[in-house]
Amino acid sequence: MTETEKTARTPHPLYTVESALAWYTFIADRLADDLRTGYPTADSGSAVGDYQEDLKTAQCAHQRFTDAWQRRDRYEAKDAWWELKNIAGQWSSHTDFPEPVSDGTMPCPIPSDDTGHPCTKKIPRGWTASEGHGGGHFWQSPKVAELEKAGVHYDAGQLLSGQPAKYHLPKDCTPDCWKWRDR
Ligand SMILES: [Zn+2]
Ligand SMILES: [Zn+2]
Repeated sequence: MTETEKTARTPHPLYTVESALAWYTFIADRLADDLRTGYPTADSGSAVGDYQEDLKTAQCAHQRFTDAWQRRDRYEAKDAWWELKNIAGQWSSHTDFPEPVSDGTMPCPIPSDDTGHPCTKKIPRGWTASEGHGGGHFWQSPKVAELEKAGVHYDAGQLLSGQPAKYHLPKDCTPDCWKWRDR
């Protein structure tokens, strides 16, 4: 399967048309704010020139995202998305900043490309979903995640193969279990 086909099947949860537009709108609004602030004191010619130049950069990045999205080029779309986000980053403390910041409980939104299983890691406090978490993703079927949380012993290979897996609580463990020593 090519990357293109994967994109068609499962759109990336972060690099969407909506979020790219949210970045662009946010940037355009902040640039307009800056122009209004700069206009009375700064030389108006240069303030307007800076505004137009910065707005054009953001417009180009957004257009690049849109074009890449339409031809399902996930790499180019991601790159353009990050160009927008990096421009917006200078106003990261603004109340309208489009990407929510984690309080430490935000789940990682990136599912596995292969199985669609969710990532069980959390976005650290103060980080955004696109900044992610340390290390790689840890994809796990919701059923396995639930069993692990409950501390049960089970055969992971059986679950992965889609077979109904047998499991038991640690108190019911028997010496033939591979986790017998952990009980
Ligand atoms: Zn993750
Ligand atoms: Zn056991």
